[in-house]
Amino acid sequence: MAKQLLGKTVVVQMKEGIVARVEALRAQGVEPTLAFLRVGNRPDDLSYQRSATKRAEGRGIATREFVLPETATDAEVEEALRAINQDPGVHGCLMFRPLPGALSDERAAAVLASEKDLDGITASSLAAVFTDHEQGFPPCTAQACLEMLDAYQVPLQGRHVVVVGRSLVIGKPVSLMLLRRNATVTMAHSRTQDLAALTRQADVVVCATGRAKAFGPEYFAPGQTVLDVGINFDEQGNLCGDVDFDQVEPVVGAITPVPGGIGSVTTECLMDHVVTAAERAAHGEGGR
Ligand code: NDP
Repeated sequence: MAKQLLGKTVVVQMKEGIVARVEALRAQGVEPTLAFLRVGNRPDDLSYQRSATKRAEGRGIATREFVLPETATDAEVEEALRAINQDPGVHGCLMFRPLPGALSDERAAAVLASEKDLDGITASSLAAVFTDHEQGFPPCTAQACLEMLDAYQVPLQGRHVVVVGRSLVIGKPVSLMLLRRNATVTMAHSRTQDLAALTRQADVVVCATGRAKAFGPEYFAPGQTVLDVGINFDEQGNLCGDVDFDQVEPVVGAITPVPGGIGSVTTECLMDHVVTAAERAAHGEGGR
């Protein structure tokens, strides 16, 4: 039986530090404030906003919402982002993506100030992941993977990590963040040949492909640590990861469940980022 790496254990640890930092900011008269920018009312966005708002309330973080109708134009989204950039009462912004219809995520990301970019969508934040500079923030999910590994003291230095998936949201940034921690990282994707032979060689496997239960026991070996980043639905409509948990859990050494794994840590990373943004603003540290 594998050890289950639980998101809630990591969240409890992270929360303690975050609450203390919020109290210190409030003592200086700073109210850390997270803005949600939403275009339309997609149920997934509303549901995530509700749970993140509740999480923020539990840590003393204020939230504000900026909502545009689904008929909004790129120019109107950009205007809302400029208002957020210029508002000293907002420390950071989560913009729900993908934006609906023909709206351009890229145009919007080009407007958001990196110091308020809590989820690593701007070019400056992503460049900082490459250069190890403290500018903007890495994507929350990529950071959540590192928080999970650290909380459970999974060794990374010199270890082989195979990351499956190469998106800008997860695969690429998490690979670079693992590299920074002296892991030997292999990035795999849909064109990788004999993926199962590759993943079986790893000490740690990160699955971030968005394919429900696609990774069965043939992809894994005893003793491995598996991070399942996927958030998918199976044929019965149940939430599941990329890994076929029931089949793989008896094989590996440690594994994150879905739900209950990386997802809830991702939301805590959002909290961490807004508090860091408020601290940087209070200390006069700018972004770009
Ligand atoms: P994308 O669709 O942007 O990227 C998927 C990646 O998986 C691509 O790089 C793709 O390769 C690769 N891939 C697809 N099929 C295969 C295959 N058969 N073998 C190997 N690699 C493959 O997805 P995201 O990165 O945005 O999201 C991935 C998953 O993570 C989704 O389930 C998403 O819901 C979830 N997610 C979870 C979050 C959390 O907080 N836990 C937050 C955000 C997302 P190629 O580049 O060659 O096409």
